Amino acid sequence: MFNLENIVRPNVLQMKAYSSARDEFKGSASVFIDANENNLGSLAGEGYNRYPDPHQRKLKEQIAAIKGVKPSQIFLGNGSDEAIDLLFRLVCRPGQDRMLHLPPTYGMYEVSANLNEVQLDAVQLTPDFQIPVPEVLRHVKETTKLIFVCSPNNPTGNLLHAESIETLLDNFDGLVVVDEAYIDFADAPSWSTRLEEYPNLVVLQTFSKAWGMAGLRIGMAFGSEQLIALLDKIKPPYNINEATQQLALKALEQTEQLAFMIEEIVQERDMLLHALPTLDAVEKVYPSDANFLLVRVKDANGLYEHLLRQGIVVRNRSSLPGCAGCLRISIGTVDENQALFQAIQNFK
Ligand code: PMP
Repeated sequence: MFNLENIVRPNVLQMKAYSSARDEFKGSASVFIDANENNLGSLAGEGYNRYPDPHQRKLKEQIAAIKGVKPSQIFLGNGSDEAIDLLFRLVCRPGQDRMLHLPPTYGMYEVSANLNEVQLDAVQLTPDFQIPVPEVLRHVKETTKLIFVCSPNNPTGNLLHAESIETLLDNFDGLVVVDEAYIDFADAPSWSTRLEEYPNLVVLQTFSKAWGMAGLRIGMAFGSEQLIALLDKIKPPYNINEATQQLALKALEQTEQLAFMIEEIVQERDMLLHALPTLDAVEKVYPSDANFLLVRVKDANGLYEHLLRQGIVVRNRSSLPGCAGCLRISIGTVDENQALFQAIQNFK
């Protein structure tokens, strides 16, 4: 039976969170001289002399309404990368505990594991980039605290089968982290709709992809209220800055424009999915539920260099397990996609 308290690090359970000036006084007042701010003003613009809301209350209310979860089930991080790191620090005792991931996948799970001195078990995805469930369960040890599954997966682009993720959730007493950075481009419900069923489920999403806010650094984790309270306890107090909170609030009002952008990106993705295989240099384009395509080509290094000479930068993923000969190509504007197509067509 999953019990969060059994897997949270004892020092985290015992410690007290930092109490900020804004936590200690919550009422209204005319003079705030409690946080060692500069009360003369800010050179960056009005309001930036004050610390931001450490609990991001307004933002969480708006996100909760859009995502259909409670504000208390939302953690906001400086990118979802921060949430990934904090999950390690929440449950993995350095030098003792383990995590499991499924390459080829997003590289930060491994980086965060290494940084936090957490042993890594890697079980490669099947040739069609799905979860080999029995093998994963065989690799789970008593000290395994986290399993990361990325769906849609980066760099392969595909959704992972829901039944496989369900089996992991049902049979693993640690946290199953479903990274949904690319879910807005997929025709599938978010795992955030299943939080009540699975107390060991954590869902990551981000504003860096569909919302077009990679530069502002804001990511989300959805989970049980108990888990989110613990992530809040260990996060740096002001991890989402004031400019980001304000700009994100504005962006969240524009859900219609968001839908238009997603539609255009998905259309362009599907256009390239069909057009690229007609080119000599291309062997295979993998189906994608994300805003990029994994493309297997005859000469990955040669084509990569050729594209660079044309001023086009793609990601060479050919050294990753299961990705020999593969480039990962983000969907650009209509003109950029056209330029890419022509540049590959001209490759001899
Ligand atoms: N997860 C996946 C699968 C990603 O591809 C990325 C970014 N490339 C992230 C998380 C990190 O996103 P963020 O910008 O929110 O830190």
